[in-house]
Amino acid sequence: MTPNKSHWRRWGRNLEQWAYRGLDQHLRVGITGLSGAGKTAFLTSLVHQLLHAEPQHLPMWQALSDGRLLGVQRQSQPDLALLPFDYDNAIAGLCANPPQWPPSTRGLSEIRLALRFAPAGGLKRQLIDHLTLYLDLVDYPGEWLLDLPMLNLEFADWSRQQWQMLSAPPWNETTGAWLAEVEQLSDEAGIEPLAAQYGSLLGELRQSLAATYLQPGRALLPAELAGTPILAFFPLSPQRLEQHDDPLVAVLRSRYDAYCEQVVKPFYRKHFARFDRQVVLVDTLGALDKGHAQITQMADAIQAIQQSFHYGPGSLLRRLFRPRIDKLLFAAGKADHITVDQHANLLSLTDSLMGQSGRLARFSGSKVETMVLSAIRASQQGQVDRGGLIPVIRGVDMAQQAVTRFPGEVPSQLPEPSFWQQQGFEFGRLAPPQLGSVQAPLPHMRMDHLIEWMLGDKM
Ligand code: GDP
Repeated sequence: MTPNKSHWRRWGRNLEQWAYRGLDQHLRVGITGLSGAGKTAFLTSLVHQLLHAEPQHLPMWQALSDGRLLGVQRQSQPDLALLPFDYDNAIAGLCANPPQWPPSTRGLSEIRLALRFAPAGGLKRQLIDHLTLYLDLVDYPGEWLLDLPMLNLEFADWSRQQWQMLSAPPWNETTGAWLAEVEQLSDEAGIEPLAAQYGSLLGELRQSLAATYLQPGRALLPAELAGTPILAFFPLSPQRLEQHDDPLVAVLRSRYDAYCEQVVKPFYRKHFARFDRQVVLVDTLGALDKGHAQITQMADAIQAIQQSFHYGPGSLLRRLFRPRIDKLLFAAGKADHITVDQHANLLSLTDSLMGQSGRLARFSGSKVETMVLSAIRASQQGQVDRGGLIPVIRGVDMAQQAVTRFPGEVPSQLPEPSFWQQQGFEFGRLAPPQLGSVQAPLPHMRMDHLIEWMLGDKM
C-alpha cells in the first residue's frame, strides 16, 4: 500500500514535534549565601511552591497564571556524586507538631525538577503541545565563594590580612589566646592542633559574634574535607613572616597553596562553572541586629562574594573557566521579621551593602538584581493602637509563645556606629508556620516574583 497524503502529513507533524522536543531546556541554578542566610529554608520553599503551584498563591508567576504550567515532578538528580537535597526531611519537619525549621546547609546538595508547560505562543504553540524544562537546583555554602580572593593572594599577604582582622576589636576578645599560642609555635608537630583550634575559633567568631568574612571557607564548612591535612593551615603574624628561613612558614605556605589549587579552583571548575543562574541569599537583618562591626564585615563579605561574578575579559575567573551565569540575584531574605512598610528600606540597605558605585556595570555578562523576600513566612502583619496605630508583626517565638513585635525601623543605608546606641531591633527567630499537610500552601513573601525572575524567560 502506498502512503497517502494524510499519512505524510502525520509523519511531517511527528518530525516537527520531535525537532521541537530538542527545545526542551535545562537550567542549573546555584543557591548560596553565608551560613544561616536561609538557603535550606529557601530551597525547601522553592521546591514546595513549584510542586504544589496554585495561581492564587503565586500570582506573579506568568506561566502559571496563564494556565500554561501543565505539571511539575521531581526527577532523579543528574549528578550522582552530589548529596541529594533532603526535601522530604525538610517538609516532614514543617509538618511536625510543633513545626521545625529544616537543618542548615553543610555542603553541596542538589535536586532536579521537571516542569512541563505549554509554549507561550507563536509558531511553537501551533506545532507542539508541551515542552519540558529540567531545573537543577544546587545548594552550597557561600563561605566557599569567600575563598576566591585567596587565589589572588600569596600566603604572606593573606596571612597579614587575616592576622590584622583577628587582632582587631571586637574579634580579638575571642582570638587573643589563640594568636598568642601561634606566636609561640616552635615545631611542626604544633601545626595540626593549632589548625584544628583555628577551625573552631572561626566557628566561634561566627556563632557568638556573627562574624562573616572568615577564611578559609572550608575551615567553617569542610564537608568531605573534614579532618584532612589540606585544611591544616592558618595565618601567621607579620613579624613571623619576616623570618624567611623559618621552616614553619614554608610548611604553612605550601598547605595554603595546595588548598588554593586542590580545593578552591576545582570548586569553581566543577561546580560554579556549570551554573546558568545564581541566587545569593543575604541576611541583612541578622547582621543589622548584631551591630556596626558585623554589618560592615558582612558588606565586605558580600563584596568579596561579588568577585565570583565578575568575569570580564582578563579576570581571574575567565582564566580559570568559561563562566555562563546570565542572571544573578541578591535576595534579602527573612523579610517576614519586619513590617512591610520597611521593605523598601531593606532593599536599599542591601543595595548599599553591595557597594553602590556602578553595581550593575561590574558584572559583564550577568544581569544583577536585588529583591526582598521571605521563603517561609512565619508572621502576620498587624497594627496596635499606641495613641495612633503602629504597624507590628505577630508570630510565635522559638519557645512556642505568641509574640507581637514592633521590630524597629530599618535604615536605608549602612548607618554610622552611633545608630546602634539610639535604636534597638527585635528580629529574634520565629517558629515556622505549621504546614497542615504536605500539599498545603506554604506561606511566603515574593517567592512568585523570584520564580518569575528565575524561570519567566524560559517558559
Ligand atoms: P542556611 O544555613 O543558609 O541553610 O540557613 P537556614 O535555611 O537553615 O536558615 C537559618 C534560620 O533562619 C532558620 O532556622 C530560620 O530560623 C531562619 N529563616 C530562614 N528563612 C526564613 C524565613 O523566610 N522566615 C523566617 N521567619 N525565618 C527564616
